[in-house]
Amino acid sequence: MCSRESQLSRGFLFCLQAMCNWPGEGQHSNAVAVQRALPEVPVVSIPQVPPLSEPLTNWVALKDVADGMSQVLRVMKGEIPGDEEHLQGAKQEVQVEHLQIDQNHLWHPYTSMVKPGRVWSVRSAEGCLIQLEDGRRLVDGMASWWCAIHGYNVPELNAAAANQLGQMSHVMFGGLTHRPATLLAKQLLDCAPEGLTQVFLCDSGSVSVEVALKMSLQYWAMKGKPSKCRIATVQRGYHGDTFGAMSVCDPVRGMHTLFKGALAQQLFAEPPELSTDWSTGDDGFSSMESLLKERHQEVAAVIIEPVVQGAGGMRIYNPSYLQKLRKLCDELDVLLIFDEIATGFGRTGKLFAAEHAQVSPDIMCIGKALTGGYCTLGAAIASEKVSHGVSGPDGRQPLMHGPTFMGNPLACSIAAASIQLLLDGPWHSRVKSIEEQLVRELRPLAAYAEVEDVRVLGAIGVVELKTAPAEPQKLQAALVDQGVWLRPFGRTIYTMPPFVISSEELSRISGAIASVLDAHIPRSAE
Ligand SMILES: *Cc1c(COP(=O)(O)O)cnc(C)c1O
Repeated sequence: MCSRESQLSRGFLFCLQAMCNWPGEGQHSNAVAVQRALPEVPVVSIPQVPPLSEPLTNWVALKDVADGMSQVLRVMKGEIPGDEEHLQGAKQEVQVEHLQIDQNHLWHPYTSMVKPGRVWSVRSAEGCLIQLEDGRRLVDGMASWWCAIHGYNVPELNAAAANQLGQMSHVMFGGLTHRPATLLAKQLLDCAPEGLTQVFLCDSGSVSVEVALKMSLQYWAMKGKPSKCRIATVQRGYHGDTFGAMSVCDPVRGMHTLFKGALAQQLFAEPPELSTDWSTGDDGFSSMESLLKERHQEVAAVIIEPVVQGAGGMRIYNPSYLQKLRKLCDELDVLLIFDEIATGFGRTGKLFAAEHAQVSPDIMCIGKALTGGYCTLGAAIASEKVSHGVSGPDGRQPLMHGPTFMGNPLACSIAAASIQLLLDGPWHSRVKSIEEQLVRELRPLAAYAEVEDVRVLGAIGVVELKTAPAEPQKLQAALVDQGVWLRPFGRTIYTMPPFVISSEELSRISGAIASVLDAHIPRSAE
């Protein structure tokens, strides 16, 4: 059993166990015991091999050995031995029960428990392939909501997790500290935009937004300006699903209009202009400019997703917007928060999207790819101006936030390993070649009558339709049938693949998008 545990922890799933039996063991043999413990696994038993000094020829000639070996081959070829059929039946029952529990008792993201959507059951994932329980392998075009930048089952991250588990998975961060947290803080500050110096580690992206908002409000309260208590932002933004974060998401098209009455009333400017050609055109800053000029007395901070508005529509805009915003925030005494949860760690072709504009925010929120997609972790990283400001002139006021799992050592160790792996590898050229390939393969789709726009930046490729697909479920199933995992939303079919994706795998994603457009949406007449 020990060796079985160690095989499982290395990701081997058992379909067959071959045992060598001692002569005359019968009822109490190893094989019988193992079969009892693993009723689902075919167990094949063969006689014990002779001592090293004896030739194997006699042993090989034994009928039991020949029978055992041919049984092994049949199982390996997928032919189920006759007496194992009942086990297959049992496996199917387990599968049906599993999906029923899911359907009846488990909420999935943004779904109804009354009419849940279809789900596909995953057995494992490796590299850029997600293996379903039915044996199909899907090329992953989502990086699990933009997190799994190194792909899945990454030896370096597995090792970091295993090593940390051997030390401690968690200890409270109140009054205690540990190497994983200090190592991660140092790494983050070494690569973060200039001027960010203090790290608040927390549970997730949304919580890092809560912390950033709280820092901004507390900052002005301690400056004796409690009337600066609103947050300004742009429409089409997405910052998470907790209440503070919801208050700065797009108020009209966003996912949270139901809660309007319960949310803090924030200030919204028009969204930045869509643009991937940054040499020309209006960046759309004037709306934010007039909003801030008019209302800066009430504004504690501006929060914005730099260069790419993600879940609000995959909108790419000109970094000149951020330069103007930084300048105006300084002039009017307003803090600036960049939500880099989606864009951080190389996704847009720079380590952080702020680098496109060469400006630093006062607070930066990160999450998603921080642990390479292994587990949840977020951080709000502040400048000294902010971190000192929140504690008032005498430095006595604590920052009133402290989640139970703050600084979780397991998550910190994995995050540190993930950042190291990213920085040690050729992430920049990988993202560049993904960008070039997405431009080559997705741009031609702009010719389809139903396609509004195709845009690419770094490892982000977006096909925006003129209208949302009537049956998103069917679209999803068609993509799975094409052997890829994509999760279209609203009017967009988009990909944000792991950076380690091969060009063949990426072509399968582009090809699948083209083929669902062919199948579901007629091409323009010309
Ligand atoms: C995903 C996301 C969040 C929320 O992060 P969670 O970890 O899901 O709470 C916030 N902001 C942006 C820009 C995101 O993409």
